[in-house]
Amino acid sequence: MTSTAIDTDVCVAGGGPAGLMLAVLLARQGIRVVLLEKHADFLRDFRGDTVHPSTLDLLDELGLTDAIDQLPHRDAERMTATFADGTYTLADFSRLRVRHPYIRFMPQWHLLNLLAATGGKYREFTLLRSHEVVDVTRDRGIVTGVTAIGPDGDIRIRAYLTVAADGRGSIIRHRLALPLRTFGAPMDVLWFRLPRRPADTEGLDMRVGAGRLLLGIDRDDFWQMADVIPKGGFAAVQAAGLDAFRRTVAEQAPSYADRVQQIRSWDDVKMLTVRVDRLRRWHAPGVLLIGDAAHAMSPIGGVGINLAVQDAVAAARILAGPIPGRRLSSRVLASVQRRRAFPTVGTQAIQVVIQKAFLGRVLAADRPVMAPAPLRLLSRFPALQRLPARLIGVGLRPEHVG
Ligand SMILES: Cc1cc2nc3c(=O)[nH]c(=O)nc-3n(C[C@H](O)[C@H](O)[C@H](O)COP(=O)(O)OP(=O)(O)OC[C@H]3O[C@@H](n4cnc5c(N)ncnc54)[C@H](O)[C@@H]3O)c2cc1C
Repeated sequence: MTSTAIDTDVCVAGGGPAGLMLAVLLARQGIRVVLLEKHADFLRDFRGDTVHPSTLDLLDELGLTDAIDQLPHRDAERMTATFADGTYTLADFSRLRVRHPYIRFMPQWHLLNLLAATGGKYREFTLLRSHEVVDVTRDRGIVTGVTAIGPDGDIRIRAYLTVAADGRGSIIRHRLALPLRTFGAPMDVLWFRLPRRPADTEGLDMRVGAGRLLLGIDRDDFWQMADVIPKGGFAAVQAAGLDAFRRTVAEQAPSYADRVQQIRSWDDVKMLTVRVDRLRRWHAPGVLLIGDAAHAMSPIGGVGINLAVQDAVAAARILAGPIPGRRLSSRVLASVQRRRAFPTVGTQAIQVVIQKAFLGRVLAADRPVMAPAPLRLLSRFPALQRLPARLIGVGLRPEHVG
């Protein structure tokens, strides 16, 4: 085992949407960034595959419009859900007055690879893949960087600022023991694939059944399926057996009945735990936390990636001035949190209300579920579909690259 040390301006832990966007934006402004990602590549089933109108705007501002357009994707103008009494539109993005009035469905690894390639054009950008952050280093109470384990042994990154963008299970958040508020979530998600046929619907396929909610995310030649089950319910699903699981999927989505045999074993089904929480303070001396590391988002509305990216954009704008002059203070770090607190708190509050008022009811139901009154109202007055479209597609406080 060798032990290496690197000095840099900013060390970012985690190459998800938040970490990569921040690293690109800082390197673009001449700030040296070392980004550590524990995996060797981005080719995993991430938790979300949506690129929202406001993120597409940011990619435009970075000059990446053509590059993102060339990657495999599907643009959906509407988000719908099928209940026992019919299919209803939840959000109509075509009603938004924005440059990209649709949600783009794209495997997240394409977006991450694009950001990594963009960062690679700047000599200030260093991406160390297969490097897992294991701890923070401190000097008189100030975080001075991290230690990580890479393919060639231990590595120490000494940084003026450390940014935790290492997701909901953040090791940095854990090591710093920052106070956390948890809001609970009534569900977990079973994640698996089914083949997709050319005649299938496109974009998002959401079916609400008795005690279950099934989502299909269009990944061109396959559906990335998400079966929303009651929290802690996976053991019971497994105990009922794989045949029963396949049957439930087929009952909820009869059009997939011909392909559920493709779920060959429980190895094909991954359980994702849903958590909603938020740090009271997103920073400590020498360190800032952004994205899910600061506030784990519920999958409701599929807005977590957008929020993570917007955190990164705000952080880059606020930090880019003070870092080169070594003028960072708690006040500067606090202003990143202040800027992003309103959209985070507001979005999580809406998610928690929907979890309680709608999802909790669906997951407890033992008979077919009818569309709730607010959805029927949206379908009677389609102009109202603009409101959820705005919340999901643009968010409460869209950011712009300065
Ligand atoms: C079931 C489910 C479905 C979801 N669906 C959607 C959706 O459709 N659309 C949407 O917008 N959001 C969705 N979300 C939320 C979304 O996934 C997150 O909010 C978003 O990914 C947060 O981005 P991030 O960059 O902060 O963290 P992450 O995406 O979690 O990225 C963190 C990165 O850090 C790396 N990492 C972790 N630990 C270390 C370490 N110690 N050292 C180095 N690297 C490390 C990880 O490998 C990862 O690459 C979903 C969430 C769940 C639970």
